[in-house]
Amino acid sequence: MSIAENLADIERRISAAAQKSGRKREDILLLAVTKTIDTDRIKEAVELGYTSLGENRVQEIMEKYDKIQGVDWHLIGHLQTNKVKYIADKVKMIHSVDSLKLGEEISKRCANCGRVMDILVEVNIAGEEAKHGVPPDKAQELAAELAKLPNLHIKGLMTVAPYDPEPENNRKYFRLMRKLFVDIQNKNYDNTDMEFLSMGMTNDYETAIEEGANIVRIGTGIFGARNYT
Ligand SMILES: *Cc1c(COP(=O)(O)O)cnc(C)c1O
Repeated sequence: MSIAENLADIERRISAAAQKSGRKREDILLLAVTKTIDTDRIKEAVELGYTSLGENRVQEIMEKYDKIQGVDWHLIGHLQTNKVKYIADKVKMIHSVDSLKLGEEISKRCANCGRVMDILVEVNIAGEEAKHGVPPDKAQELAAELAKLPNLHIKGLMTVAPYDPEPENNRKYFRLMRKLFVDIQNKNYDNTDMEFLSMGMTNDYETAIEEGANIVRIGTGIFGARNYT
């Protein structure tokens, strides 16, 4: 199937899942995950109106930044503190803040370029060893600390759920994320507006939306299987 056909199918499924949770299609942001995808194919999606792009490596954002205009870049992968300086003036939102040290560096670099960065706190919701993210029972504490930093704006939470061919198995994790989200929202921290719950990928985005996700990050479903070289 073409990128346009894939997107049409995803649109239908997002709408149906949004309806199930009492929301509308326009309440959900579809982030097109473009890692390893070449610029010509990314532009196909952009021309269809998909202008919010997710990348998980700083290097790839740097390479694509000047070649693709009129889009918002979201950094969704693990970010090393020594690379923050390269993207502080380039990305719209960082989904993967999982330590105070990283938050401090982002705030510092954003102060230098005169902006406030929208961030999400990444939670390792299933406690997977190989994954980044703060443990669920430490998320609130981290949010409270990040909220004190002047050039950060906390906008919500993000998680990468376990890979499971049966998406229903991730429903419990999405529910926990939603609960954590509401708990933090109720704290009314400074510099914090809990607007976004970024969860759900190609394999499980419908379940994630049913449980409250309003950003889904989809790569394979749009562009097909990635070729790692
Ligand atoms: C690659 C990636 C995605 C998209 O994964 P697909 O299964 O291809 O949709 C979403 N989120 C993050 C953090 C990723 O690294």
